[in-house]
Amino acid sequence: MKLFAVMILHGRTNSMRIGGEDVVSKQSCLSCHSTEYNDYDLPLCLVCAPWTNNGESPKPFGSLERITLLEFIHGDNYQEIISRGMPDGDIAWKELLCSINASSIDDNGRFVNDTEEVLSLITHIQGVIDEYTEDLSRSENLALAYYSHFVDLDKSSILGDDEEKLLQFEIRNQNVTFRIVRMKGDEVPIHAYSFSKPLELHSNYYAEIVSINGISVSFDYKDLEGCAEVLLLLEIHNRDIDEIVESYNRKYREIIDALLSQHCELFTDESIQILPHSISILSELNLILSGKDDDLVRELLLCSLYTFENWKWIQNVLDPARVRSFQFLSQIMTDLGKRVTLYENGFSVDSLTGNRYQVNWTKFRTDHVFWFITEVFEDKSVCIEVEEEHDLPMGDILAVILLSLYDDIESSELIKTLNI
Ligand SMILES: [Zn+2]
Repeated sequence: MKLFAVMILHGRTNSMRIGGEDVVSKQSCLSCHSTEYNDYDLPLCLVCAPWTNNGESPKPFGSLERITLLEFIHGDNYQEIISRGMPDGDIAWKELLCSINASSIDDNGRFVNDTEEVLSLITHIQGVIDEYTEDLSRSENLALAYYSHFVDLDKSSILGDDEEKLLQFEIRNQNVTFRIVRMKGDEVPIHAYSFSKPLELHSNYYAEIVSINGISVSFDYKDLEGCAEVLLLLEIHNRDIDEIVESYNRKYREIIDALLSQHCELFTDESIQILPHSISILSELNLILSGKDDDLVRELLLCSLYTFENWKWIQNVLDPARVRSFQFLSQIMTDLGKRVTLYENGFSVDSLTGNRYQVNWTKFRTDHVFWFITEVFEDKSVCIEVEEEHDLPMGDILAVILLSLYDDIESSELIKTLNI
């Protein structure tokens, strides 16, 4: 029986013990579903963490009282929330918050802000811009198609150097002007709105606000959402547009700052791009996140945000065969007791013959988690490679490696390079 092909490498591994006393709550490990070996507030246990998510430590997860992340990911009733993925605009945010609300039986009529009106206004403005841009693009495409038999076609010689068009329309008795700009590269100003419908266009466009009722305005964040919310404010307040826009920008900054500082474990500065763009939805979000600790809606939102951000590795650990393989590995480690030590990057095992082997994860092949084995006392590296035809789940492979290293008298019959 030839299970392994073996070769010797030399190298030094870096072993760091995990420490820390400030345990808040125990999460079940998403990979092996156990709370064993998980003294820290992380969604992966010490056994599984090094072999998941390319060896990167998972981000800590805040304490939950009503639901675990594992229940959220496997719960049938939460699949609708998960399937939505990270919202890509305020309407998607609103839908997400609604389905979170619907999944929680104990809360009804949660939304306090009248967000519907803002959202329908955003949709309306977006529709006007999309329609105009579509027409513009169609006539430009026609012109380009007519001249397409020319080699080295220079778009601007046909379409003119006029890269911008002004789009004016009436909405809620206010006169709004947007500038529609033909893009030269992929650059879109951060506050601008870019064409939402995927079309095969020769040119792409973005829209930015110019003025409301002839008064030029600019938003620190998103023009489309800002414009919609300011139009609604104009109906209530009898103040100058300048003043309203200024206080709007200030309020937006305040609420973003509050969200980022109060929930810094959830968001980074880059999150501004994925966070809602209207104050209405941002306030809804902030309200839920700042809610009571035992609030199911709040915990469902936390689970959703965490799942969306970590979806890449989370979906890999859903495979039941992989789950069983790590349960198997974990059980063997329990059986071996003190002979096994868990590290941030892997584990070590004291063998029957008194050797100590350290098994660390390494990115040996491109995007494939691999292992790197060192005999600690002699600082000699051993690389055990499972042959290609053994298509075993990761936990099973590690279990075989662990057992072979532990019983290195027996294994040396198969693995001649083990140092005994
Ligand atoms: Zn685990």
